[in-house]
Amino acid sequence: MTTKAVSANAKRLIAPCMRDCPAGIDVPRYIGYVQKGQFAEAEAVVREKNPFPAICSHVCYRHCEVACRRASMDGTVSINALKRAACDLRSEMFRDNWEATIAPSTGKRVAVVGSGPAGLTVAYYLGKRCGHQVTVFEALSQAGGQFRIGIPVYRLPREILDEQIAVVTETRVEIKTNHRVESLDKLFQEGFDAIFIGAGALRPQQMGIEGEDLPGVMECVDFLQEVNLGNNLDVGQRVAIIGGGNVAIDGARTALRLGAKEVTIVYRRTRQEMPATADEVQAAEKEGVKFQFLVSPMGVYRDGDHLRLHLQCMELGEPDDSGRRRPVPIKGKETDLPINTLLVAIGQVADVAKSWGIDLNRNGTIQGDNKSMATNRAGVFAGGDVITGPSNVTEAIAAGRRSASAMDRYLGGDGDIEETLAPPPGDEMDMPSKLHPLGVKAFPVAELDVKERIHTFDEVERGYTRDEAIQEARRCIRCDMWRINGIPSVWPKGKKVIA
Ligand SMILES: Cc1cc2nc3c(=O)[nH]c(=O)nc-3n(C[C@H](O)[C@H](O)[C@H](O)COP(=O)(O)OP(=O)(O)OC[C@H]3O[C@@H](n4cnc5c(N)ncnc54)[C@H](O)[C@@H]3O)c2cc1C
Repeated sequence: MTTKAVSANAKRLIAPCMRDCPAGIDVPRYIGYVQKGQFAEAEAVVREKNPFPAICSHVCYRHCEVACRRASMDGTVSINALKRAACDLRSEMFRDNWEATIAPSTGKRVAVVGSGPAGLTVAYYLGKRCGHQVTVFEALSQAGGQFRIGIPVYRLPREILDEQIAVVTETRVEIKTNHRVESLDKLFQEGFDAIFIGAGALRPQQMGIEGEDLPGVMECVDFLQEVNLGNNLDVGQRVAIIGGGNVAIDGARTALRLGAKEVTIVYRRTRQEMPATADEVQAAEKEGVKFQFLVSPMGVYRDGDHLRLHLQCMELGEPDDSGRRRPVPIKGKETDLPINTLLVAIGQVADVAKSWGIDLNRNGTIQGDNKSMATNRAGVFAGGDVITGPSNVTEAIAAGRRSASAMDRYLGGDGDIEETLAPPPGDEMDMPSKLHPLGVKAFPVAELDVKERIHTFDEVERGYTRDEAIQEARRCIRCDMWRINGIPSVWPKGKKVIA
C-alpha cells in the first residue's frame, strides 16, 4: 500500500455514481482497476458491497449512470458495462481474502422466507459474515425470485445466476425449494431465533374488465414465470401486452421469441410517460415490437378462432399525483385489436398472509421501517419488494444488507457485515494519466444481430472486450479525486461543480 494511495483514499469525494448506488459500491475505484486492466480486482471491489456482481452487471437499472458527471458533457460513462467486463474477464481473486472474512459460528438459527435478491443477500451476510445458521425457504421449485422467474434468459443467462447463488450457499446457508412458509409461529416453534420476510410483490393486479378470465388472457408475470421455468407456451401469431413498464417489455420480447409474428404493447398514455427504461423500449422496437399509445382496455371477447381486444381511445389531461398527465377517454372513440394472446402487465402487489400477524399497509406491503427493517413482531424483519412494492434488484440487495446488519444486532452481534475482498488501495486510486478528452462518446456494447436474436433466447448484449473496457474506463473523469488532484482539463471552463 503506498502512502499516497492511503491519503488519497482518505480525501476522496463521494462521487455521484457511488452516492446514488443503493448498495454503495465504490464505482470510481472499480473503474480505476478496469482502466489498468485489473478485472479481478475490479470485481472484488464490487463484491465487497454486493454478493451478486455478475447478475447486477446484466440487469441493474444503473442509478450510477444517471448520476455520472460526464452525462452532462458528452454522455454517461457505461458504468454497468464496465462492471460486466470486470465480471466476465475476472479470475477468482476475491477468494484470496475469503477465509479471513468468514465469522465463527454463533449457534443462532435464522429463517428466510423467499429466495429473491433480498432474501439471498440477508442469507449470505448472516451466514458468512455473522456466523448464524440460515435456512432459506422458497415456495417455487427453483431459487432466485425474480432473478429466476421474472428476468428473461436473453438478459440474464442462467449459468451466471446458478454460479452466484452457489457462492451464497457455501457458508452456513441452506436453500429449501418447494417449501412455502405458511406460518411464522411454526418457524419460531422449530427453534429459529429470527425470521426475515423477503416474499416480494408477486400477486398481479387485475384489470377488472370483461373477458379477463378467458383462455388466452394471462398475467404477464405468470407467463414469464412459466417460460423462465422451462415451459414453452403457444402464444399464437398476434400478442398484445397491456402496460408500459419493464415487465410489459419483457413479456413482449419473450412472446416474439416464442414465435409471435405481431406483438403490440398497448399503453394508455404516451411514450413519454412510459415507466419502462428507454433502452428497454428501444431494444423492443428494434426487435419489431409495436406500440399503440393512448388506448385503454375495455373488454376482451372471443371472436371465432381469436380474441378481440376492445380499446377506448384516450387523450392526455392534467397531471395526476405521479406528476404524469392523466389519460382521459375521448368520448365515442373506440377501436379493436384482433389477437391470439393477451398479456396483462399492470403491476403486482405484495401478498402477505394475515395470519402472520404482521402489520400491513393498505396496498398489502409490510409496514416496516426501511432502515431498521424491523416489523411489528419481535424477531421478524422484512425487506425488498414486500416492503417497497415492485422496485428493483439493487434496492432489494441494499435492503438485504441493512436487514442482515439489523438482524445480527438483534441476535447479539455487532451488525458489522463489511468485508474486504479487494487488495488494499493502490494506484487505481490515482487520477488516470490517459483521460479521454471531451467529445468521446461511450463505446457501444456489442449485441447479437437482431434477425438472429428474435428466434432464440441467447443473450442479446455481448459485453466489452478487454480493450474496449479499458478504453471506456478512460472516459471516467474520476471526480472522486478532484479534491486531491484538482479538476482535470476535460471539465468545461466555468461549469459549476456540484459536490
Ligand atoms: C419481469 C420482471 C423483470 C424485472 N427486471 C428487472 C431488472 O432487469 N433489473 C432490476 O433491477 N429489477 C428488475 N425487476 C425487479 C426485481 O426483480 C425485484 O425488484 C426484485 O427481485 C425484488 O426482490 P425480492 O427479493 O424483494 O423479491 P422477489 O425477487 O420477488 O423474490 C421473492 C421470493 O419469495 C418467494 N416467496 C413468496 N412467498 C413465499 C412463502 N410464503 N414461502 C416461501 N417463499 C415465498 C417467491 O416465490 C419468490 O421467489 C424485474 C421484475 C420483474 C417482475
